[in-house]
Amino acid sequence: MQEGSTGSEKLYQKVDMNILKFAEEFPDEAACRLDFKTKRENQGVICKKCSCKDHYWLKNKWQWQCKSCSFRTTIRSGTIMENSNLPVRYWYVCMALMSMTKKGISAKEMQRQLGLKRYQPVWSMMHKIRAAMGCRDAMYTLDGAVEFDEGYFTHGIKRGSKPKRGRGSQNKKNVAVIAESTPLEDMETGKVSRQCRYFKMKVLTSHEAVEIDDLVEESIEERSLVFSDKSTSYVNISDYVEVHIQEKSDVETTKTTLQWVHIAIANSKRWLLGIHHMIKGKYLQNYLNEFCYKLNRRYFGNRLFNRLSIALAKSYWHN
Ligand SMILES: [Zn+2]
Repeated sequence: MQEGSTGSEKLYQKVDMNILKFAEEFPDEAACRLDFKTKRENQGVICKKCSCKDHYWLKNKWQWQCKSCSFRTTIRSGTIMENSNLPVRYWYVCMALMSMTKKGISAKEMQRQLGLKRYQPVWSMMHKIRAAMGCRDAMYTLDGAVEFDEGYFTHGIKRGSKPKRGRGSQNKKNVAVIAESTPLEDMETGKVSRQCRYFKMKVLTSHEAVEIDDLVEESIEERSLVFSDKSTSYVNISDYVEVHIQEKSDVETTKTTLQWVHIAIANSKRWLLGIHHMIKGKYLQNYLNEFCYKLNRRYFGNRLFNRLSIALAKSYWHN
């Protein structure tokens, strides 16, 4: 049967965005630039020089001009696209492939899909998008019943250096993983299961309580109930939240009270290995940003592309 012929509509589900629709809506650079301009205007263009929010649109120059001080703002200025030489459309294709694919794609694959000679600009674009994802998620705090734990993530080591084993090993990063996890009780059996909502992951630089304290304070609502194991770095958590319950870490807690953080740790490790292979430790946070951003929006379906393009149209230098 010919695709798109009469009677075949049933074969297609109604979607907000997929690769066909993307190609239709963003056929060229002009369409992408117009969409980006609209999204910036919807969020409000702010003058870098005087913070004024009123602008004229200079159609011939494709720039905004501040009504108060005449300072001009280009389409990319103030956003993460600012210093990029890549066409806006490449950013759009990159966002589309990152958001529409369930598992995301590697920078090498992105380079192939974009047909670019150089790897570095693609790699850098993807990391900037991941940073924007992180900024978006940093706007939200976790609330209610919350699981808190840490995972050790292996990353690439310098050629020639021998990997050490254990907690302080140089090719492992310690990552705090936090998950909203609502206990649900089955009224008939009395069995408790847990439903997860939002996640956060943060690469830690020390094993000290003070770092955990700061993280809890900025990431979790005060009225929350936090579950964790008996790690000594968690001694002050109760100062920042309503209730802190510490249980000895064993097989049982892994399956129950700390179920979702462990699932997230396992899945993100598998994702890192499967898609991105050996990554450098200093970029781990960016990869985790992407993992959490998509995990937190797992029910968005194909609306994710639109949300991501709105996040990118935000000026990063003000909030
Ligand atoms: Zn101004």
